[in-house]
Parts: sequence; C-alpha cells; structure tokens
Amino acid sequence: MNLWDGVDVLVSEVGPRDGLQSITPIMPTEAKLRWIGALVEAGVREVEAGSFVPAHVVPQLADTAEVVRTLKRCHPGLHVAALVPNARGARAALEAGADKITLPLSASETHSLRNLRRTHAQVLDEVRAIAELLSRAGPNRPVFEGAVSTAFGCTLEGPVPEARVVALAERLVALGCDEVSLSDTTGYANPAQVRRLVKAVQAAVGPERMTGLHLHNTRGLGLANVLAGLEEGVRTFDASQGGLGGCPFAPGASGNVVTEDLVFMLEAMGLKTGIDLDRLLAARRILAEALPTEPLYGFLAEAGLPLGFRQAA
Ligand code: ZN
Repeated sequence: MNLWDGVDVLVSEVGPRDGLQSITPIMPTEAKLRWIGALVEAGVREVEAGSFVPAHVVPQLADTAEVVRTLKRCHPGLHVAALVPNARGARAALEAGADKITLPLSASETHSLRNLRRTHAQVLDEVRAIAELLSRAGPNRPVFEGAVSTAFGCTLEGPVPEARVVALAERLVALGCDEVSLSDTTGYANPAQVRRLVKAVQAAVGPERMTGLHLHNTRGLGLANVLAGLEEGVRTFDASQGGLGGCPFAPGASGNVVTEDLVFMLEAMGLKTGIDLDRLLAARRILAEALPTEPLYGFLAEAGLPLGFRQAA
C-alpha cells in the first residue's frame, strides 16, 4: 500500500521519539514494539521510531536501531522515520532500514549550539554529507527531510526572524533535502504566524517541498495551528499519543499535539486519516499501562466520541 492511498492527511506519530525522549522512565523495547504495533493496528502509517544519537545522550532511545529493524520486519507497510543529528546517525538509520530520516536544524543558533552543539554552518555541512551518502544508497533510499526547529520562537533567543527560517529552508533544499518541515519546538506558534511562515516557505522552496508541520500544544494552540497549516495546503502533521512528554515548564500542558484529538478533528471535518479512533484509543491504553507514572493528555480520551459519530469508511 502506498503511504497516501485513501488518505487526505498523514498523521505521523512521533511519540516514540519526541514523547519518550522527554520523559525520565525508559520504556523497554518490547513495550515500545507492542505500543507501536497497536498504533499500526489502528491504521497509523508513519511512526518516528527513535533517534540515532549516542546512547549516553538520550538513553531512552538507545534501542532505536533495533526498534527500526524490528518494525520493518514485522510491519513492512509502515513508514518508519527516525531523527538523525548528523551523517553518522544517517548512516546508522540507513543500515537499520529507515524509510525517512529527519535532520533538525534549529533556526535559533543558540538552541542549535545547546541541542546539537553545532553552529548553523556545521549542521549544514552534515546535511551536505548526508545528501552525498544518500546519493550512493540506491533507489530505495530513505526520504531526507530537513526540519527547521524553533521556527516560531525560541526559549533561549525569543522571537526568531521569519526571513531566517525561510533562508534556512532554502539552504536545506539547495543542499539536498527532499522536503522541509517547520517545527514549533517551544509551543510559541499562533495560527496567523503559521499561515504566514508556511506561505513564505512554500514560496521559497515550492509547496511540494514544504510538506510537514511539527506542532506542540504547550499553550493550547496546537489544533488551531494545525488548522492554519491545513488551510495553507500542508498535509503531514506530527502528533504524539496522549501528548506524551508534556512540557516541564508548563504544568498541565501536553508536549506534541495529541494524536487522538488531531485524528478526531480531521475525521470530524471529513478528512480521511486512515486511522480508526476506537483502535487508537485502545493503543493509548497500552501506552498508559506501559508508563503508569506518566500523565497522558487529550480531550477525546476523557470525553469519548460524540453520540452517533461515525468515521467515513
Ligand atoms: Zn517536538
């Protein structure tokens, strides 16, 4: 099955990476696989399975290669994505069989230095090296996504100039990224800003290359921001089940947009996601059992589906 068959919007589940890397407990590999298996059962087509960073940096994701390999073996149709900070990580992702690799480039150089310990120029050197690596990887090579993070503001630098985000997106494509996405790493974005920045990046790199939005719900604007992106033609949205990995600086605020709430909004609007909401809620229960001390967020799980609600077949 093609990734986009019968689907209007691709909901990419990033909980196994973004969610798990932000929490203290380490989820055993077997539990991760059970949870992701339930997500696949619900119809989730793309999962960001982990991050190819050194194990001492993010011990929660030390088993990423094993998770990617097992997912490709057990769920051949699943699009398995992985984060890579550099060419070394990209090589490991390639060896494990990832379908998509995402390299984050922080629009805030202060954040980039803190997060990857690299300047913009150094990250762009890695982009060049990854493009070179992929050019020798044959026809089944993974999709290469450049993700401009802190695109809507930074907790260290404050406002981030939009012209800088656009320029970085252009550089990423010029150096060999197949697509670019924008990440609201800090939960600072608002819908007007999303609309403006998506338009500006689309104009710079072409709408077919400005593919995804990674939004956080830290200040409650996650779904409003999704809607703004949708209205500008964006069709891929990252989300995490139960908003796993809530922001420690904003008590009660979830991390990523909550997958269940996002799928409910899209399906209620008549947009097909390919995801069955009842099964998605069943997967959430598996997650809750595996991480009993972690709070899970989201409105749909609390309120349930509206009476008479039916998903289009
Ligand atoms: Zn994130």
